[in-house]
Amino acid sequence: MQLFHLTAHEASRLLHRREITSRELTQAVLGRTRETEPRLKAFVTVTQEVALEQASRADEQIASGQPATLTGIPMQIKDNICTSGIRTTCSSRMLENFVPFYNATVMERLNVQGPVLVGKGNMDEFAMGSSTENSAFYPTRNPWDLERVPGGSSGGPAAAVAAGQCLFALGSDTGGSIRQPAALCGIVGLKPTYGLVSRYGLVAFASSLDQIGPLTKDVTDCALVLNSIAGHDPLDSTSIPLKAPDYTKALVPDIKGLRIGVPKEYFGEGIQPEVEAAVKKAILIMEKLGARVEETSLPLTRYALAVYYIIAPSECSANLARYDGVKYGFSYQGASNIWEQMAKTRQLGFGAEVKRRIMLGTYALSAGYYDAYYLKALKVRTLISREFQEAFQRFDALVTPTSPTVPFKLGEKVEDPVQMYMSDICTIPANIAGIPAIAIPCGFHQGLPIGLQIMGKALSEETLLRIAYAYEQATDWHKRRPDL
Ligand code: GLN
Repeated sequence: MQLFHLTAHEASRLLHRREITSRELTQAVLGRTRETEPRLKAFVTVTQEVALEQASRADEQIASGQPATLTGIPMQIKDNICTSGIRTTCSSRMLENFVPFYNATVMERLNVQGPVLVGKGNMDEFAMGSSTENSAFYPTRNPWDLERVPGGSSGGPAAAVAAGQCLFALGSDTGGSIRQPAALCGIVGLKPTYGLVSRYGLVAFASSLDQIGPLTKDVTDCALVLNSIAGHDPLDSTSIPLKAPDYTKALVPDIKGLRIGVPKEYFGEGIQPEVEAAVKKAILIMEKLGARVEETSLPLTRYALAVYYIIAPSECSANLARYDGVKYGFSYQGASNIWEQMAKTRQLGFGAEVKRRIMLGTYALSAGYYDAYYLKALKVRTLISREFQEAFQRFDALVTPTSPTVPFKLGEKVEDPVQMYMSDICTIPANIAGIPAIAIPCGFHQGLPIGLQIMGKALSEETLLRIAYAYEQATDWHKRRPDL
């Protein structure tokens, strides 16, 4: 197989055995990027020089006999995660020239192992969207079909991993932004439990929902990357004070006796029949592997999308108030006073979807509507969380589709925000409840990937990885690579 199509753990083994060097691997990945990027547009910034230098250092580290698992492995990072000295734009005009002077905690943690940064991933502006079409620069395309979207908002990272422009990536997930693009690009994506991975240095969208997580080619890589980024961080006050376990220990192909619930609200209306069929087939395989499968019901699921579109815009309207053209980022020059400068900065610096969210949130938080919308949404959020908690007394995990459809065409949903919002109907509940959820490939329809989702109670990442791994070992969807 070509080097750029290797998984991180495969490449790691070759590096440690000195069968390849990180420079060779990095050159292969950069070459692949040069060749495919004009069509794919998965990057905002390619950091070729940094990559080659880090690769040389990784080779020295390997030669000295002290390599870590991710030493010398090329990765891409979503462009809302701060990288010291490297532009971090959130795919927005507002931050087009913003160069952070510090690293996000996840970068500091990864860097301990000495991976290779090949670039920053394209995304929907400020992570608001489900197709990457809201990037202020250009949309990313799906490596399985260039006429279609890769999903979003981590569409760049997902497309880059699937296409072999990197071996793994980090994305962020507020309502599905890791899992939905993972599903649409045929790869693995994990949204960790809220608080498991530090948000320090992640540009905030909706702070009570945002989580950083891995996008990888298989479940083993997912566990490896999670190992390096999970665990307590005093710089994030919502970080759980806990030492994360070694997630690779969960990678055993045995799920005998595990209780899997299949919530009926995630099937049927609104779900493409081929997606439903593939997910149901996968559930049968899990049953054959020894899981005890049972249909169940989570009736409050139907309110999750509405709750999300109150809470996420409310938090975003507060978080994005900082972009005033005074402290940093884009600043409109030529106004006659500070108020006009702020107004113009925000008018020109933000795209249409970001403005829509800010207005929705400002409205929901305004005096007189706060109780009716924001407070009500918080109450329903509590009820949804409770419903999940009850379900997890009976089940170890819940299995559902990840995206209701296979990848859709570019332009198909941009004019209809509600249609676009529906793409996250299966993924949003996990963010509302703060629970972990993993997306893994489970089939294809007319050459387009289909993904399933496994949700579990807070801090049950090991259970999710175990089920995902057992299923993966019994199938070979994860071995397919797009023909670009
Ligand atoms: N698509 C959803 C939104 O637009 C979720 C985005 C995300 O998870 N960042 O808000």
